[in-house]
Amino acid sequence: MNFENNLSFAQQLDQADPLREMRSQFLFPQHNGKEFIYLCGNSLGLQPKVAQEVMQVQLDNWKNLAVEGWFEGETPWMFYHKELKKLMAPIVGAKAAEVCPMNTLTVNLHLLMVSFYRPQGKRFKIIMEAGAFPSDQYAIESQVRFHGYDPKEAIIEVKPKAGAYTLETEAILQEIAANGDEIALVLFGGVNYFTGQWYDMPAITKAGHAVGATVGFDLAHAAGNVPLKLHDWDIDFACWCSYKYQNSGPGGISGIFVHEKHFADTSLHRFAGWWGYQEAQRFKMEKGFVPEAGADGWQVSCTQVMPMALYHASLQLFEKAGFIEPLRNKSKTLTSYLFYVINEVNKKLGEEQYHIITPATEADRGAQVSIIAKANGKQVFDQLVAHHVLGDWREPNVIRLSPVPLYNSFEDIYRTGELLLTVSQQLND
Ligand SMILES: *Cc1c(COP(=O)(O)O)cnc(C)c1O
Repeated sequence: MNFENNLSFAQQLDQADPLREMRSQFLFPQHNGKEFIYLCGNSLGLQPKVAQEVMQVQLDNWKNLAVEGWFEGETPWMFYHKELKKLMAPIVGAKAAEVCPMNTLTVNLHLLMVSFYRPQGKRFKIIMEAGAFPSDQYAIESQVRFHGYDPKEAIIEVKPKAGAYTLETEAILQEIAANGDEIALVLFGGVNYFTGQWYDMPAITKAGHAVGATVGFDLAHAAGNVPLKLHDWDIDFACWCSYKYQNSGPGGISGIFVHEKHFADTSLHRFAGWWGYQEAQRFKMEKGFVPEAGADGWQVSCTQVMPMALYHASLQLFEKAGFIEPLRNKSKTLTSYLFYVINEVNKKLGEEQYHIITPATEADRGAQVSIIAKANGKQVFDQLVAHHVLGDWREPNVIRLSPVPLYNSFEDIYRTGELLLTVSQQLND
């Protein structure tokens, strides 16, 4: 598409956007009575307007039914997670039995590594991307230590070439092949939180399996952002948080994926709890853990009804939007427009003041655009916020802007560019 850097062009794109009504389902933060242009859905998605109502429904269930709420009412808590599974599955390209909402992300990463990081003999290493989100680094280091290895020896980090920010798929595949017989687990992010790079998940999975390793993904920045086919890509396991692109609220529930080919594997270790026990027999309270079939068998504690109610409400908005394909279609154009607008700012400034480190190729990125300012990065960011454009700042020097197709408009993007230009001109003077 040939973009234009003016308001009426942006508004025309909004008029033609089949998802434009979705924006009215969300609450935007305000300051001094003025709404923010919110470009931070990669960190915390906006609150759906129905959030209060669904919380109230569960508070009423608790008030009116108390303990009987587990089995009574319109959505008995005992089975409530099943409502979510149906809606989570299409978002990540899985069968409903392969996904389950539970816990929080880093906790699930640990639980899944208990099952799927099984170092043995020479094959004890984990290969991951360098510069992964710190929580993942800490989780992986501690798992490696837990098994008695030194993280320096047991963790292979794939690093970008000198001067580059993103990884070449070929380089990832070569690292995997080169260390093949020592790799127990390939554990990558889906979309990198810093650069916004969407890794070639099917290629990484194939390469991992080709050397006999297990392959898992942390989809914190991918789930609800880019189209995924976890089942078809034959990924062994994955987990994600739901408070970023999936708008479930701070500390919202996490989701896990376990490929059905592992369901019958009784050799997998699990850190078990009563909620993973066979559902029909759970309340017999018998000794000796027997897991429920499918991803549900990885549950540990009883259903977190309140955070699940919020995730459920948000998943219903995805359903209303037609799940991921329509969102991705809009997202591609929206993010391309942001690329264009930033480059227009550079042109008008007469030099590349804003260097985009996110891959320009659509297939290699999701919604997020990460920018390094040549100068005054933090001041530029602070000025954007002061003028009601909310992205986020990542040390040491990156501004992340993430237009979210559920609630951002092309006008948001145009206005962001206009402000970025003004702010830059003022700071340059
Ligand atoms: C956001 C994010 C997390 C956060 O983990 P929590 O356990 O939800 O606090 C972890 N890993 C990645 C890759 C993330 O992007």
